[in-house]
Amino acid sequence: MTLSSVAAAPAGSRAGPALRLDRLVKRYGERRALDGLSLSLAPGCFVALLGPNGAGKSTLFQVLTGLFVADEGEVEVAGCSLRHDAVAALRHIGVVFQQMSLDLDLSVERNLRFHADLHGLPRALAGERLRAGCQALGLEKDLARPVRELSGGNRRKVELVRALLHQPRVLLMDEPTVGLDPKSRRDLLAAIRADITARASTVLWATHLVEEAEAADRVLVLHRGRLLADGTPAEVTATLGGRTLEEAFIGATQS
Ligand code: ADP
Repeated sequence: MTLSSVAAAPAGSRAGPALRLDRLVKRYGERRALDGLSLSLAPGCFVALLGPNGAGKSTLFQVLTGLFVADEGEVEVAGCSLRHDAVAALRHIGVVFQQMSLDLDLSVERNLRFHADLHGLPRALAGERLRAGCQALGLEKDLARPVRELSGGNRRKVELVRALLHQPRVLLMDEPTVGLDPKSRRDLLAAIRADITARASTVLWATHLVEEAEAADRVLVLHRGRLLADGTPAEVTATLGGRTLEEAFIGATQS
């Protein structure tokens, strides 16, 4: 069973891009954290958003999750405008934030049910999905346990199950492997790949780790709020110039 094996994905425009940004600008005072960012992500791909600290990755995610409003530009999620119909657009977004955001005193199931209720999922369907999701990630024995008792790796897995409960078209992962051991990291990646295969979801994975970007279908290199390169890992390496992606990335972003 995979995370997405229960019930069909929600309706939404499947013909066009999963995510489209058009000349997005976000300022903090004089500083432009996002400086006219445009891009389009197709359904069914794993995209790494690779940028050094301060590149604008978290700011982009804050805009995409509705926490901040962009100063200029447009965002469309599954064809829904974030500016004009935020509720519809946000229905198609799932997110795992950098900081753990589970209630430590509640059980795994209560945490997941809370999220399902926020999204208005019928109780029986929520139960099926959360059980399937936990089973896929080896958490089925932990459903009744308080999150406090879980390891860091398993807490992250619960957050992934939660982010996918409403079957979003676009999954945002903000540096999700920080502090995880190699096995937990591998499990997380495998679960995400399975979801992409099962539902043609699109994953935008923010990282400053080149090795994680090397495993992506597509790499976006963000620096000072602008895209420096966009393509497969090999294409990005060639565009930026270097023998390896790491060399190319460091060379292009160290200034
Ligand atoms: P990243 O997530 O890639 O490390 P951020 O989005 O956090 O980058 O930051 C992008 C830029 O915006 C940086 O120059 C950062 O200092 C600045 N910045 C981020 N958040 C704020 C804020 N709340 N107020 C002022 N400047 C900020």
